[in-house]
Amino acid sequence: MGINMAYKVPFLDLKSINLEYENEFKSIIEDVLESGWFVNGGQLSKFEKEYAAFSGAKYCIGVGNGLEALRLLLLANNIGQGDEVLVPSNTFIATWLAVTQVGATPIPVEPDKFTYNIDPSLLSASLTNKTKAIIPVHLYGQLANLSEINKFAHDHNLVVIEDAAQSQGALFDGLSSANFGNSSATSFYPGKNLGALGDAGAVLTNDNVVAEKIRILRNYGSNEKYIHDIIGTNSRLDEIQAAFLRLKLKNLSRDNQRRIQIARTYSDLISNSAIVLPFCPKMSSPAWHLYVIRTKNRNSFMSYMRDLGIETLIHYPVPPHKQKCYLNEYLNYDLGLTEVLCEEIVSLPISPILSDSQVEYVVEAINKYNG
Ligand SMILES: *Cc1c(COP(=O)(O)O)cnc(C)c1O
Repeated sequence: MGINMAYKVPFLDLKSINLEYENEFKSIIEDVLESGWFVNGGQLSKFEKEYAAFSGAKYCIGVGNGLEALRLLLLANNIGQGDEVLVPSNTFIATWLAVTQVGATPIPVEPDKFTYNIDPSLLSASLTNKTKAIIPVHLYGQLANLSEINKFAHDHNLVVIEDAAQSQGALFDGLSSANFGNSSATSFYPGKNLGALGDAGAVLTNDNVVAEKIRILRNYGSNEKYIHDIIGTNSRLDEIQAAFLRLKLKNLSRDNQRRIQIARTYSDLISNSAIVLPFCPKMSSPAWHLYVIRTKNRNSFMSYMRDLGIETLIHYPVPPHKQKCYLNEYLNYDLGLTEVLCEEIVSLPISPILSDSQVEYVVEAINKYNG
């Protein structure tokens, strides 16, 4: 397959997704050029207010990317050398890297076999006197079981930091993740539900002390120009990206509604005994960042789909504990379910610009698949 192969149903066509904003993007570039102000300005503070309101959190602090949002939250909670942090074994590697980068140790916890999110009933088996925090990831856009995770954290005096990179707009029983009271990290990487035209991320919190710490940490440890009270870093969300994000935020609910509609069509109409559809608890209203199915002969399924012009991807083919950078440290862990999932998962196209006929074409193709 050549990289230029034109799919009838591409997985995620970022060029087309951004096309509707072309003229407005150009006038934003002119405005920012005209203003002569490129970082830490009015566009960022307006975006922070607007995204906080969208998320139901009191404070939003823009940072350079999602990994930085996680890392700064760990630093703000004084997590570092000698500490252990419970993380899902089934996640994108950034969740683990943030923990490693502050000098702490990621301790993998296996997922629930239906939702693929961290299984709260397994947390206690991984608890030690070094455990300081839990990072639940709202994988594929579905909120993890926050009520049970928070209860466990409360009972054992642990901090909960949510990885909300994939769950912008997700609800559980009508509540957003911010309503559960933890701080969270999100990412505006171009492929996320709310995507910039480059890297960007944010911390969301209801805690004014955490908010203030993140503001200082992202800006060289400084609250006042040229006065540095702590060792900080440079992790900023540029004015131009903030302005692009403000524009696209206006359509995030509309785009998420379209994702929900596509997910519903897939879940209602796909019927093939070789395919396991995603499980969604009754109260759960995911943001459907990804629509992930399972199938035993994945290679043959993916090439069947490709031959029909449908692009599918794997999120993620190799779990963090199997990556070369972590391999030696996790040889003694039994993470069998994660490994099975990584062999069987496939993500179907679900971007908000897919047409009804493209969605129906995917459904028909899968229903005819002879797995
Ligand atoms: C994208 C993503 C991140 C990292 O975000 P970046 O902005 O790319 O650094 C972290 N966690 C999860 C689950 C993600 O999907």
